[in-house]
Formats: sequence, structure tokens, C-alpha cells
Amino acid sequence: MVQRTLIIMVLSLMSYQFHSCTKSDRDTRRPGSKNTVESLAESGGTDIRCNNVRYEDWKTSEYVLPYAVGETYRTNLTNCTSSYHAPGMPDQFAIDFAMPIGTEITAARPGQVFHIEESGIDGGFPNNLAIIAHSDGTFAAYMHLTENGALAEVGSFILQGDIIGLSGNTGLAGYPHLHFVVIKEKPLEFPYTSVPVTFKNTLDNERSLLPYTDYPAYPYE
Ligand SMILES: [Zn+2]
Repeated sequence: MVQRTLIIMVLSLMSYQFHSCTKSDRDTRRPGSKNTVESLAESGGTDIRCNNVRYEDWKTSEYVLPYAVGETYRTNLTNCTSSYHAPGMPDQFAIDFAMPIGTEITAARPGQVFHIEESGIDGGFPNNLAIIAHSDGTFAAYMHLTENGALAEVGSFILQGDIIGLSGNTGLAGYPHLHFVVIKEKPLEFPYTSVPVTFKNTLDNERSLLPYTDYPAYPYE
């Protein structure tokens, strides 16, 4: 029994390394919220969209939304909002997309599959994820995938828009969603350094995506 408890503790710690979202995400979630500014103010910030950060022009961004063209999903916490996505946190530039378990996740940018974990069960640990290495040295991490939800092999090259996994609710997700974060460089373990991203195939997102907002994925080349 003691041994089992120890193993569970170690597993929990390991999954925490690839951190994600905790209960706080859920606690601050306001699916019905219509007024983004108000939500931000309520969450404790004044202007907390990382004013001094330079974002790539979204119209020519290297990134597309990490789900299929034609689909629309609502963001939850996005860059520089609150909780684990607050300024100064490792996940300050991470984006949460609320979506049902089993939603197809597509590559936001081309690259080579660097690491996958898919042994976790929804509502449990570890935090399933796929990490894709990009040509500029950055890595995209797609987290909280469902059990056996990593659909690309380590080492394989993938194109933008290729299906790489199925979303889920593993790790410290709190509710079914995709936690998408671009990591600047190794080491990839938490606390990593995230980088700001914009997306070229959706609504205007000059300073990346707003929280609690629906973003349709438009066609791209
Ligand atoms: Zn998150």
C-alpha cells in the first residue's frame, strides 16, 4: 500500500513537470462571459495583456489555430490573463481552447514530433501531450490529450494542419480543453519559457487571442 502511494505521488509530480492548467483555470472560467474586459478586470488585472511584448503580425504568422478548418472553439484563459497564464508565469503565453474530449487537434506549425505521452486517462494522470519541434528551435506543446490520443509518431515530420492528436482532459486540466503553448527552447520541462504567438487563419488577433472568445478556423494555404 505504501509503495503504491509512493508511486502515485511520483507520477503526480512527474506530470506536474509538464504543467498545465489546474482547478484555478476552471474556477476562473466564465463560459457565459460576454464582456472580456470586465472578465479581465474581475480576474485581478488592469491592463494585463503584456503591453511591452512584441507580437508577430497575425496576418503573416507562422501559426494557424490547432484545430480543423471550419471548426470554431472558444478560448478560456489566453496569453497574459490570469492564474497560470498571468504575466511572469511560465505559461503566460499559453492559450486554452475549450473543446469536447476527442476533438481533432491539428499542427499549428510544421515540424518534427519530438515527444509524446498518451498513457493518461481523462480525469487522471499523467498529462498526455505531443511536442513538436519547429525549424526555428521552438517547440509547440499540445497538452491534456485524451487516452491514447497522440496520433503522430515520435520522429515523424508533420505539415501544418496535419492531425496530431485528440483532445482530452488529462493531467491538471480541470475541464476538457487543449492547452497550447510554444516553448522557446530546451529544457521543455516546467517551468519552461513560453513565447507569444498569433494565428493567421482566424479573426483579428494583433495581440494574440482574447479570452472567452469564439475563434473560427478559416482556410489557409
Ligand atoms: Zn492552460
